[in-house]
Amino acid sequence: MLYQRSSQLFVEANKVIPGGVNSPVRAFKSVGGNPIFIKEAKGAYLFDEDDNKYIDYINSWGPMILGHAHEPVINAIIEKAKKGTSFGTPTELETKIAELAVSMVPNIDKIRFVNSGTEACMSAVRLARGYTKRDKIIKFSGCYHGHSDSFLIAAGSGLSTFGVPNSPGVTEGTAKDTLLARFNDIENVKSLFEANKNEIAAIIIEPVPGNMGCIPPKASFLSSLRALCDENGTLLIFDEVMTGFRLAKGGAQELYGVRADIACYGKVIGGGLPVGAFAGREEIMNYLSPMGPVYQAGTLSGNPLAMAAGYQMLLELNSDAQIFSRLEEKTAYLEKGIDKVLSENNIDFTINRVGSMISVHFDKNEVYDFETAKNGDNETFKKFFHELLKKGIYIAPSAYETWFITDALSYEDLDYTIKSIDEVAKTL
Ligand SMILES: *Cc1c(COP(=O)(O)O)cnc(C)c1O
Repeated sequence: MLYQRSSQLFVEANKVIPGGVNSPVRAFKSVGGNPIFIKEAKGAYLFDEDDNKYIDYINSWGPMILGHAHEPVINAIIEKAKKGTSFGTPTELETKIAELAVSMVPNIDKIRFVNSGTEACMSAVRLARGYTKRDKIIKFSGCYHGHSDSFLIAAGSGLSTFGVPNSPGVTEGTAKDTLLARFNDIENVKSLFEANKNEIAAIIIEPVPGNMGCIPPKASFLSSLRALCDENGTLLIFDEVMTGFRLAKGGAQELYGVRADIACYGKVIGGGLPVGAFAGREEIMNYLSPMGPVYQAGTLSGNPLAMAAGYQMLLELNSDAQIFSRLEEKTAYLEKGIDKVLSENNIDFTINRVGSMISVHFDKNEVYDFETAKNGDNETFKKFFHELLKKGIYIAPSAYETWFITDALSYEDLDYTIKSIDEVAKTL
């Protein structure tokens, strides 16, 4: 494959954009080489500026669950755009998407729309602090909740990739209110509650982390967190930016039968446009401005184009009774195939999967938290990534990322992927 134009474009981009990208993990820093510039996409495929074609396992980091340029979503955006793109007033569509989201997800009465997952998590924590009148939060090492200050502490994903545990610019004052816990370790969480009695406003967690690879929660871990929160007057925030509308209609709350007090959304809920949202019980959500004292706002929040894309996406997911089982079957098929060929080639690996989230770790031991995720062999991953790319398979350029399966993938695509991984495994 030739990457002439991509390389040229990257040189140009670097002159005017820091690192040539608008989000760090796009830059291929942890795998080496230059990023490829995408020109267009359709269904399960990406086409780059040099006219190379790829099967896409990133899918815009999650949103394109039905494939790229999905026609009903594209048409909804086009029709809406003709009528004006922003008014700064309420619109009927915002109520319609809110009603639909509330009907699909358990335990939520009200939802507020914002412009990104970062905003959703940041606002959810402010709301939890305002509601409980406490300052501290617990987050888990390796979980990513966007780039707002309180979360940039052992935050997985791009940050782990670059080995920066903390970002300059986050003040000590902010960092001291974020307590770090180990995922899947309930005793560790209990000890934090004991040391900080009546001070913890919220636990924020990715119920199925996807930002240190995919990490399945151990049986009863989430329900034990629920119980701890209830005992301590602490709110449980599920960051479902990745899992929401992906693992099930009602996300991880539905899949694991555990109630969150506030749930955060992003990615799928925007159908590929910039959307985030946070939702919860009425008494909590009514604490938000203009009803309550906790301030939160946004000039383009609930933007008509974004709402049109998101609404159409949710309608599609809501009306297809088989969608989540179909996604799971495809991902399980891929898992089985990769497991077989990596085993046959005597590679040390672990595959983690929940529903349509899957990650391959180059370590033979169980991967259940950030520490164990870090044991993966990054040199093997780099080679794996670049060899797959040469074969037209685009996985995330970091060992700490989950692959997102889209319904647009055919079994031929999956077979080609498994066959390619077999060939690549022979070179590792
Ligand atoms: C992507 C992601 C975010 C941040 O969303 P942005 O839209 O990138 O701001 C937050 N939490 C989780 C779990 C995510 O995967």
